[in-house]
Amino acid sequence: MLRPIRRVAVLGAGTMGSQIAAHLANARIPCVLLDRLPISPTLEEEKKEPTLADPLVRDRLARLGVETALKSHPAAFFVPANVALITTGNFEDHLNLLKGCDWIIEAVTENLDVKRELLKKVEPFISPGAVVSSNTSGISIEAIAQGFSFLPSWLGTHFFNPPRYMKLLEIIPATGTLPEVVERISWFGGEVLGKGIVVAKDRPNFIANRIGVFVHLATLEIMQEEGFSIEEVDALTGPAMGLPKSATFRTADLVGLDVMAHVVQNLYESLLGDERRADFRLPEFMERMIESGLLGQKTGQGFYKRIAGETGDGSEILTLDLGTFAYRPRQKPKLDGLEMAKSIGDTRQRARALFQAQGRVGHFYRQLLGRTFHYAASRIPEISDDLVSVDRAMQWGFNWECGVFELWDAIGVDTVAAQWREQRITPPPLVEELLAAGKKSFYLESSGQKSVFDLRRADYVAIPEKPGLLLLSSLRSCGREVKRNPGASLIDLGDGVLCLEFHSKMNILGPDTIQMIHFGLQALEENFEAMVIGNQGANFSAGANLLLLLLSIQEGEWDEVSHAVRAFQDANMALKYAPRPVVAAPFGLTLGGGVETSLHCARRVAAAETYIGLVEAGVGLIPAGGGTKEMLIRALDSVPADDDADAFLPLKAVFKNIGMVTVSTSAEEARNLGYLTPDDVICMNRDRQIASAKQMALELVRLGYRPGEPRQDVPMLGEAAFSKMKLALHLLRRGEYISDHDALIATKLAEVLSGGREWKSPGRVSEQYLLDLEREAFLSLCGEKKTVERIQYMLKNGKPLRN
Ligand code: NAD
Repeated sequence: MLRPIRRVAVLGAGTMGSQIAAHLANARIPCVLLDRLPISPTLEEEKKEPTLADPLVRDRLARLGVETALKSHPAAFFVPANVALITTGNFEDHLNLLKGCDWIIEAVTENLDVKRELLKKVEPFISPGAVVSSNTSGISIEAIAQGFSFLPSWLGTHFFNPPRYMKLLEIIPATGTLPEVVERISWFGGEVLGKGIVVAKDRPNFIANRIGVFVHLATLEIMQEEGFSIEEVDALTGPAMGLPKSATFRTADLVGLDVMAHVVQNLYESLLGDERRADFRLPEFMERMIESGLLGQKTGQGFYKRIAGETGDGSEILTLDLGTFAYRPRQKPKLDGLEMAKSIGDTRQRARALFQAQGRVGHFYRQLLGRTFHYAASRIPEISDDLVSVDRAMQWGFNWECGVFELWDAIGVDTVAAQWREQRITPPPLVEELLAAGKKSFYLESSGQKSVFDLRRADYVAIPEKPGLLLLSSLRSCGREVKRNPGASLIDLGDGVLCLEFHSKMNILGPDTIQMIHFGLQALEENFEAMVIGNQGANFSAGANLLLLLLSIQEGEWDEVSHAVRAFQDANMALKYAPRPVVAAPFGLTLGGGVETSLHCARRVAAAETYIGLVEAGVGLIPAGGGTKEMLIRALDSVPADDDADAFLPLKAVFKNIGMVTVSTSAEEARNLGYLTPDDVICMNRDRQIASAKQMALELVRLGYRPGEPRQDVPMLGEAAFSKMKLALHLLRRGEYISDHDALIATKLAEVLSGGREWKSPGRVSEQYLLDLEREAFLSLCGEKKTVERIQYMLKNGKPLRN
């Protein structure tokens, strides 16, 4: 049994330290955050009495760090209240607070002397057995702790920025680090903090930044060699090859050119034996940009610059012309081969097509990927013994969809080797070994078991699956898919639990999903104990199929619309009253219809990063798959049976959330908004989510789950509540906070929430009555021109129209 980590200290409350502390607080881990004394008191109130005797002044840097984390975008805290778990202090007065800490994370300035100086100071305060680590991005872990007594419990823990959102946590043991210390932090980082763990060797900048910086510099070099523009490079190095939208130059602007320069310089100085050392140099134009203060987002200008639009509404983005060093309007790149490849949905297939494309586009990819593959393969075993770690580091640290070796497999090891032969480039030993062993790929998959080529054995070795993890893709390849249609599947999770998996584009819910819900419920009744609704795609569900709805509206097929809404309501009610438990596993975007399905399940096991909201008003509608009804029931059921209790307050919150299209920024906030109940579970590690949901479902079975009967007793507040909501709308409209159409949608919502127009005084109604009200309101809104405009706009632009 690993020793638990119950309390953590973070030393240094800068960008990383304060956000690491925030994320520990998100995981409900109490945390001590210390920084140095302020060098000079500079805040206004302190100028009046600039004294370091004041404890508030002495702790100012740590407090400022927390305040900055509280204001950060995207939010560092799941909910602001988590800040209460952080105790701030300074290195002079509060080192005794370290005594109760099980893990101490150093996150001060990237400077060996500063780090060692601080560790010397804190060493006497470290409890025996506590783990001590550095968040350095590039300094040798061995060198930082040379000579300290805590060496057996010392390692590198490299979080990526922002620590809440970036999945990668590189763990770097030093020579004397005890294996159980690596295991302890790996377990805690994965299970409690939800990170993806990659164990790296103590080489400069570890794995992700070593490869990531190389790829970035190679891109700049090819751009200059081949005369590509900034826009062209960003079009080539973004989603087209499975990389983030920020591509090369927007990423550089976000990171800051000065920070990049520092990392590149550090690599150049430390990579003495690296065959590509000369490539770790910034191009001249970047040096010039840094001199001119064009550092990116932090100075408001870098490769791109946002200015107010000419008409005053909205803004325009300009691009730096590297020839004249002046900004010019952004140009839409025209790259023939790229446009064609964009129609290929699968990233691996697209990468293959791009690598083989004619003209400049193909040439660019052959150059960039050829160099990247060669460099990455040459780093085995220097930075890692295994390829999987390199791939995961790039996926989790740089948001690459596929790892380097996965991309290479997609293009073909042979294809790249042939290119090198033509160019008279000697392949790295890893590739020579692979080809000599008669293998054609780095990865191999057979009967759901993935293996990877191992350089030491010159053969494939199985990639161990983490115990307790359920991978739907593996189950599928083992033949555990019970049923499938284009929108959804049923997969046998084992132990009598079935999984209903959505897999349409954006996991949009349509007729085939509804059909699969019914198939699932039937299978549940006949052969299974419980069901989980979840998937391992990018998001749980973006909601119901708007395109189908729009087509029906445009054809005037009102019966069809009514029938489709009714079918969705019936499916959700069938989930709610299924005789055996159904557990939803929402994560990522969980919107509209996706929320409604989730709300009707017996329980939810939500990923910590779940952005959940009933967003129908954004497209001119109200939730009518039972979502309005379910939120109303939850709100009014929460009111104590007490004459003095104000039942309108929770109802008002529902009215506001649905009317104002509120989407939670975390699962914890979703709980505050009522989308999750206190009985629901929040899962920090999304890889574990399906397994946890299965566990929860089996637990419900064990506890003798009973669904109850459709409700006939839902309290209704009637006309009094309607009038209050109407008054609020009137004031909002008068203040021009909402449009006429917003007011109309919200009025329909208020009608449902108060029990319909005929409902004058408080009383009780059935669930079906509320579903009929929802459907009626939905249909009448579908007949509104402005609703149609909203739907069209959303389908075209992916964002709501305010009309
Ligand atoms: P930062 O400059 O934002 O914060 C540094 C902190 O160190 C400040 O709170 C400062 O008060 C403190 N400090 C400075 N000099 C000190 C001294 N002499 N004694 C004690 N404390 C001192 O830096 P950051 O970006 O948070 O980086 C912290 C560490 O994390 C660095 O090692 C960095 O390389 C690493 N890192 C940074 C990022 C990133 O994106 N910023 C990502 C991963 C790792």
